[in-house]
Amino acid sequence: MHYDVIIVGVGGMGSAAAWQLARRGQRVLGLERYDIPHAHGSSHGVSRIIRLPYYEDPAYVPLLHRAMALWREAEAASGRELMVTTGSIDAGPEDDALFQGALASARLHDLTHEVLTGAEVNERFPGYNLPATHRALFQPQGGLIASERAIVAHVELAQALGATIRAREEVARWEADPGGEGVTVVTNKATYRADKLVLTAGAWMGELAPELARLAIPERQVLAWLQPLRPEWFGPDRLPVFNLQVEEGRYYGLPVYDVPGFKFGRYHHRGETGDPAGLLREPDAEDEAMLRQFGQRYFPAGSGATMALRSCMFTNTPDEHFILDHHPRHAQVVLASPCSGHGYKFCSVIGEILADLATGDGATRQDIEFLRLGRPGLRL
Ligand SMILES: Cc1cc2nc3c(=O)[nH]c(=O)nc-3n(C[C@H](O)[C@H](O)[C@H](O)COP(=O)(O)OP(=O)(O)OC[C@H]3O[C@@H](n4cnc5c(N)ncnc54)[C@H](O)[C@@H]3O)c2cc1C
Repeated sequence: MHYDVIIVGVGGMGSAAAWQLARRGQRVLGLERYDIPHAHGSSHGVSRIIRLPYYEDPAYVPLLHRAMALWREAEAASGRELMVTTGSIDAGPEDDALFQGALASARLHDLTHEVLTGAEVNERFPGYNLPATHRALFQPQGGLIASERAIVAHVELAQALGATIRAREEVARWEADPGGEGVTVVTNKATYRADKLVLTAGAWMGELAPELARLAIPERQVLAWLQPLRPEWFGPDRLPVFNLQVEEGRYYGLPVYDVPGFKFGRYHHRGETGDPAGLLREPDAEDEAMLRQFGQRYFPAGSGATMALRSCMFTNTPDEHFILDHHPRHAQVVLASPCSGHGYKFCSVIGEILADLATGDGATRQDIEFLRLGRPGLRL
């Protein structure tokens, strides 16, 4: 029952960390309270956006380059399609932070890009119906990640290298040895020992690391899939993934992929935060009406009958940047809360960073200073 590293939570981040640690010859145990994969956390709903001109902060761009390379490695190793290139659109009013941030990132990191008006986007990609005077940054390398398939791929790759993964096993508590030697992890089924612990518990981080309870706040989201009236405009070859600022709010969307329907959602949906247990209630008529209104205005040819609605959870930090760091009191424990609604695309590189933090001297060659606990935006 002794492992080098125990990972709590085998979702997007935990599964990637399991593979990266197993690749380094670590004896890994991954513990997951639900199934692998499942629809009770943050990574379900088939697909997630990946985009390079990062409007949130250009400091993410080097991580994105590494993430893309590692997604391709995982694809090659697993034989599964994990990343599909569609191009990406970041659009809004010209003076808005979304468009300006994407433009700044593209220029700073010398990314291939084109600036288009809304009217030009609508002409080139006829699924779109943007306000004509909007400004859009088109970047050809963006696309989607098959998020649930990627969890399966990472888990299978880790298992092939000897990792032990146990689903339907909930971690009740953990204790760190005061001298830093190791950790004890107690589940509803057994007690385990390891040298290191990686906590990748998504919306449940505050329960497992009370230090994060005020800093990692779960929030309900709802995704819609609508049947396109012009299907030929809504496949991965014709519809770039998008982030879009409009007067109704900030929205994101993806082409039809794997399941029926053009998919989109609204950031921070209806602003419902709280305990994860209560947040995943079924989508209701108000959720559907709000999302359909957006679809019908900005993607009218994509907004036929509703195909699916799914609830999902963001876990937000106050500055909306990720948390990746060692535990403030236990160097043998690594904390990861990489969400705030934009984390999935980074799973591959975060898996590698978590493996860095949990092995050797705990250093990583990636610049994650802006994601550490001590930054001014968090005030632990
Ligand atoms: C609707 C929606 C749309 C999004 N769109 C995008 C997007 O387009 N692009 C993007 O990059 N990001 C996007 N995100 C964000 C991204 O999906 C998240 O950042 C990412 O899924 C977080 O992964 P995770 O591993 O932290 O969480 P999860 O995948 O939820 O994994 C956490 C795991 O921990 C397990 N767990 C918790 N507590 C315990 C315990 N006590 N014992 C055992 N197991 C436990 C949970 O069951 C869960 O499986 C979106 C998120 C949502 C909700």
